[in-house]
Amino acid sequence: MKQEKLLLIPGPTPVHPRILNALSQPTLSHVSPVFVAELKEALANLKKIVFNKRGESFIVAGAGTLAMEMALLNTFAKQERLLILSQGFFGQRMEKIARSFGLDYDVLRSEQGKAVEPGMLDERISQRAYAAVAATHVDTATGVCAPIREYAQIIREYETFFIVDGVCATGGIEERMDEWEVDIVLTAAQKCFGVPPGLAVLVVSERVIKKRESMKTIPAFYADLLNWLPIMKDPSKYFSTPSVNEMRAFLEGTKIMLEEGMENRFARHSRVAQTIRTKLLDLGFSFVPENPYLADTLSVVRYPDGIEDGVFRKTFAENGVIVAGGLGDFAGKVFRMGHMGNLSFSQVDFALDSLEKTLASIGYPGKLKSNARMTESKFETVRNKRVKDK
Ligand code: PMP
Repeated sequence: MKQEKLLLIPGPTPVHPRILNALSQPTLSHVSPVFVAELKEALANLKKIVFNKRGESFIVAGAGTLAMEMALLNTFAKQERLLILSQGFFGQRMEKIARSFGLDYDVLRSEQGKAVEPGMLDERISQRAYAAVAATHVDTATGVCAPIREYAQIIREYETFFIVDGVCATGGIEERMDEWEVDIVLTAAQKCFGVPPGLAVLVVSERVIKKRESMKTIPAFYADLLNWLPIMKDPSKYFSTPSVNEMRAFLEGTKIMLEEGMENRFARHSRVAQTIRTKLLDLGFSFVPENPYLADTLSVVRYPDGIEDGVFRKTFAENGVIVAGGLGDFAGKVFRMGHMGNLSFSQVDFALDSLEKTLASIGYPGKLKSNARMTESKFETVRNKRVKDK
């Protein structure tokens, strides 16, 4: 059998054998008692992952972009205005969705390598009424992580909904919906959940449901939360056939997350990210995001002189590790390495060893000197420190 490569692109992420096993279970009737119970459990687990007790969770066949669309369409009446905090590619996608549906919106753009400063948000929101603010937690093109908690502190002073695109963050970086008063966390299966792609995932606050109810009709049918709400409350009802196998796999993914404990999971993501960054800095690479905007879920890495993107990524792949190229203006100048989901410490060490091997074999002129590694003992420290998730 062909040796599988380690997939370190910014999603999909490597899939744990327990999840693959769940995916390959028989396809049950979508209204069978077993599947009904499983979907209910997955929905409940999802709320724990984003520290939400009072809202509603939704898991629907689709992907992150559908979740973005659902978030916008269910919170907006026609005459209202949206503020998008954009730090790159996926902020622009939010704009494109708003434009497609004729929504009125303004955009605050960050400087390259930074997130939108909370001060800019504070100033803008005090001057103009917005029905909602939408922010990307981690932009997958730039590797910038936005200060979501600080944004939330500002937004909650107003009657404004706060929508967080957590596609590249949820389950790897903390998002405390109730405590921070976030109204929607939207995400997808294929990143920090470590589940194969195929699901749009959302958790919404009670007031989002009330708002949707007050709007009567919206320009959506499949994306209408009110069509899905009865199914999420009682999955034995039918609206549109759920992706049974994918959802069984998603349940397994959420179990793995809660067994690890969310605090441990955030700590592991942070430690893995720090080790990878240390290694890359030691070897002469630099990053697109500036401090403190570096995400714990992926690194967007600038090449030092003497490395050609195509040759580097091809050789890295031959040495067992697949990373992604840069998007848009970054193409050819950076590579993107995902380090989220259920990545084990030995997989990280394999990738770091393979990186050095790759640089040596392409004749990299810089110094190959770095001891950065994850060690088993450090791993135990993190794993044994069980913190009870409330
Ligand atoms: N938002 C962010 C931050 C993303 O990284 C992505 C996917 N890379 C999306 C939205 C869109 O998700 P999907 O590709 O699943 O539609």
